[in-house]
Amino acid sequence: MIEITFWSEGRFMRYCVDTKTGNKLSALGFGCMRLPSSALGSVNVETSEKLILQALEAGINYFDTAYLYRGNEEALGAIIKRNNIRDRMFIATKLPHASVKSAADIERYFETSLKRLQTNRIDYYLIHNVVNLEQWQCLCALGIEEWITKRKSDGSINAIGFSFHGPQHEFASLLDAYNWDFCQIQYNYADENYQAGRSGLEEAYSRGIPVFIMEPLLGGKLADGLPKAASDLFLEAEAAHSGVAVKDSSRVDVSVAWALRWLWNQSGVTMVLSGMNSAEQIANNVRVAKESTPNMLTETELATFRSVEKIFRESYRIPCTGCNYCMPCPKDINIPGCFASYNTSYVADRISGAIGYFMCAGALGHNPHYASDCIECGKCAKHCPQGIAIPNELKKVRRRLQIPGAKPIMSLVSKMRM
Ligand code: SF4
Ligand code: SF4
Repeated sequence: MIEITFWSEGRFMRYCVDTKTGNKLSALGFGCMRLPSSALGSVNVETSEKLILQALEAGINYFDTAYLYRGNEEALGAIIKRNNIRDRMFIATKLPHASVKSAADIERYFETSLKRLQTNRIDYYLIHNVVNLEQWQCLCALGIEEWITKRKSDGSINAIGFSFHGPQHEFASLLDAYNWDFCQIQYNYADENYQAGRSGLEEAYSRGIPVFIMEPLLGGKLADGLPKAASDLFLEAEAAHSGVAVKDSSRVDVSVAWALRWLWNQSGVTMVLSGMNSAEQIANNVRVAKESTPNMLTETELATFRSVEKIFRESYRIPCTGCNYCMPCPKDINIPGCFASYNTSYVADRISGAIGYFMCAGALGHNPHYASDCIECGKCAKHCPQGIAIPNELKKVRRRLQIPGAKPIMSLVSKMRM
C-alpha cells in the first residue's frame, strides 16, 4: 500500500506502509555501507553526519548498516547520539551469520551492535548475506528461532528478516522456512533475473513479505559506469519524459533517476536502499522517490531499459559491485580495484583500464600488489555475494592489463621518485 505524505513546508517524501509492522517507511532508505570514508577505510563522521541529517530532513527514515561494515555502526551510533535523533529513524543492522558457531555468538554479535549503535533496540534485524536454506537450518540448530522470539518479546528487535545473495530456487525455500517480517534482495534492471530476481520479488510479495532492495545501482555501475551509448538512451528518455532538453552534464543523475524509477515502478518493492555519499546524490534520489509510483513507466520507457541493459552487459565482464566483502586479501591485492579496472578496459579503452590497474596495484609505491601475486588460497571467493570465482578472474585481469614489461618499468620509476 502506498501513501503520500506532504510536509508542512512544502517538501514531501513518499512513504510505504510495511504491512508486517505497520511502520511507515520512506520509499528511499539510506544505505550506510558507502558513507564517506578515508583512504584507509575509516568513516568520516563529520561528513557523514551532515548527510544523515540532510536525509532525515528530506523525510528519509530508514538507515541500514551491518556488524561487518567496518566502523559503520559506531559512526552511525555516535551521530544518532550527538543529534538525539534515535526516535526519528528506523535502524537496520545485520548478524554476521557466517561467523556464528554457537548460540552465545548470536547473542554476542547482537549485543555488540546495540552497544556500537548506542541504542536498546534494533528496528529491523537481518541475517546477513544468506545464500541457501542450509545456512538458515544451521542457525536453527543453534536455537536462533527461540532467540528471535525472546528478543522480539523483550522489544529489542522489532522485525526480523534476511538479506539474500543466493540462487533463485533457494530464495523461495528460505521465504517458506520462517515467518519473516521482511527480506532484502539485490535487484536492479541489470539483475532482473539474477539471484532472487523478479520472480523472487513476486514470490515474496505474494506471501505478504515486504521486500527491501539493495544494490539498486549495482555498486554505482548503473550511475557513472554506464557506457556512453547506454546513458545517451536515458538522456533521450529523460527529454521525452520531462518535455525539456536535458543537459549532457546531468548524464549521471539521469541514469540514476531511471534506475530508481524502474524499481519503484514495481508494486512489490517496499523500499529502495541507496548508498548515498554526497548532498547532490541525496537531493537527486529524494526528488525521484517523491515523483515515482508503481506502473508509471510506459512501454517505450520499458523498452529503453532493455536496450540499455544489452549495451551494459556487453561492456561489463566481471559483475563486481565493489562491496569489499572479499577484503582483506592476505597478499594485499586490491580485488575490487582490479575488477573495476578490467571492466573499464571494456567500457572505455584498454589503456584507461591498464592505468587504473597499475594505480590500484600501488605500482609507484614501495610495495605494489598485482593480480599476479594471487596464491589462489580461495579465502576471498567464499565471501563474494556475487559468486565471482575471484582467483580465476584475476588471471584474466593479469592477461589483459598487466602489460609485459610494465612491472619493471613501474618499479624503476618508483625508485627514481624516492
Ligand atoms: S585467492 Fe588470491 S586474491 Fe583471493 S584472498 Fe587468496 S591471494 Fe588474495
Ligand atoms: S569481488 Fe565480490 S566480494 Fe569482492 S568487492 Fe567484488 S562483489 Fe564484493
